[in-house]
Amino acid sequence: MESKGKLRILIDLEKLNTLNREGCLACGHKFTLGEEVVLARGKWEGFKYIHENEAVFDEKTNEHYEKRYYATMKEVPAEQG
Ligand SMILES: [Zn+2]
Repeated sequence: MESKGKLRILIDLEKLNTLNREGCLACGHKFTLGEEVVLARGKWEGFKYIHENEAVFDEKTNEHYEKRYYATMKEVPAEQG
């Protein structure tokens, strides 16, 4: 199956060492070898690696977003306060 625009990255040993200083920002767990991760936007600055299954791909922006963050983005409040 073709998933256009989706850029999946597999965790290798080098990434594992780098990324596990913080772990996955979406679920708080550490990464393990061979897991699929994506660079995603979230409540953090810029892009971070999170587990692929915790990200949503937005075709409009061609970017991945952390699921909960994406949900909050979608429900942009029409009225505030
Ligand atoms: Zn995760």
